This record gives sequence, C-alpha cells and structure tokens, in this order.
Amino acid sequence: MKTISCREAGFDCDHVVKGETEEDVMKNGAEHAMKVHGMNEEDITPELKQKIKGLIRTT
Ligand SMILES: [Zn+2]
Repeated sequence: MKTISCREAGFDCDHVVKGETEEDVMKNGAEHAMKVHGMNEEDITPELKQKIKGLIRTT
C-alpha cells in the first residue's frame, strides 16, 4: 500500500491518500486535490508531481 499525507503535501487537511501502486496513489491524490481542494488539472504541474512523489510512503 502506498500513502500520501495531504498535510505533508502542503494542505491543511488530515486526509491520507491511498493506492496500491505509486501510479494509483498519484491518480487518487490528483482526484482528491481537484475535488476537495479545488485544484485544476493545470495546477498539477510536473514539478508538483515530483514533489508529491517524494512524499509517498510504502506501508
Ligand atoms: Zn486534502
């Protein structure tokens, strides 16, 4: 299981994004950011993805 803490990604939010694979958790994270934090697809830049990837934990 891969997880990303939304708070560590810079949001004031206790949500933990989960996924089976790195790809999965990135996709779920993008969906969460768009749905809950009002981000657009354009806001999710390669730089941001790179940063978020560094926050992924394997459990
Ligand atoms: Zn969140």
